[in-house]
Amino acid sequence: MKFSKRQKQIIEIVKENEPISGDSIAQHLGLTKSTLRSDFAVLTMTGILDARQKVGYIYSGMTENSLLAESLTEYPIKDVMIQPIIVKSHTTVLDAITQLFMFDAGTLYIVDQETEKLTGLVSRKDLLRSILGQNTETALAVIMTRMPNIIVAQAEQSILEAAQLLSQHQIDSLPIVTPDYKVIGKITKSNIVDFLVDLCNSEE
Ligand code: ADP
Repeated sequence: MKFSKRQKQIIEIVKENEPISGDSIAQHLGLTKSTLRSDFAVLTMTGILDARQKVGYIYSGMTENSLLAESLTEYPIKDVMIQPIIVKSHTTVLDAITQLFMFDAGTLYIVDQETEKLTGLVSRKDLLRSILGQNTETALAVIMTRMPNIIVAQAEQSILEAAQLLSQHQIDSLPIVTPDYKVIGKITKSNIVDFLVDLCNSEE
């Protein structure tokens, strides 16, 4: 569920003035207490506010976490994903490194020349490891992490699910694919950090 603007205002008022009566909250908002009845019900039922008899409303401290969790589960990956850099499997390690710099990317996705389906990916460390062996002319097909070992996500999944996959598998990015594995985007740890910063700024 999503809190309304007024419910968020109530949370802020309680945070700053707790304990505070329903009448005083209504006064702060220039409204009557009965107008706020359903807002109070939502906020106490979700555990954000605690209503204590003869004391007033108290902020439970859950707000930021619940709002954050709510946003992370509600926003789909497609709102945050970025353009992936896609190369072919015969691309050499040297060319791949050039692409990384050109597009300021951390990972390249490799797709099949004919079907355009995801077949592999190479990360910065995969490329560095290959250079250590002085194999700059090696084709990516030789060094890439390949299907079916690639962790992917779909555009309709939530940002929380993407973050959980990144964290669980200790990887920096996820290819976002259609059900038949065509690559339509990419989500990275930095995307998610940017999203969190935007979210916090918009809450101010
Ligand atoms: P780096 O290697 O630059 O630290 P990652 O942490 O993303 O970047 O990659 C670590 C290893 O995991 C690499 O070998 C890479 O090929 C592999 N990898 C990266 N992303 C995925 C993914 N989505 N699914 C499976 N393996 C991945």
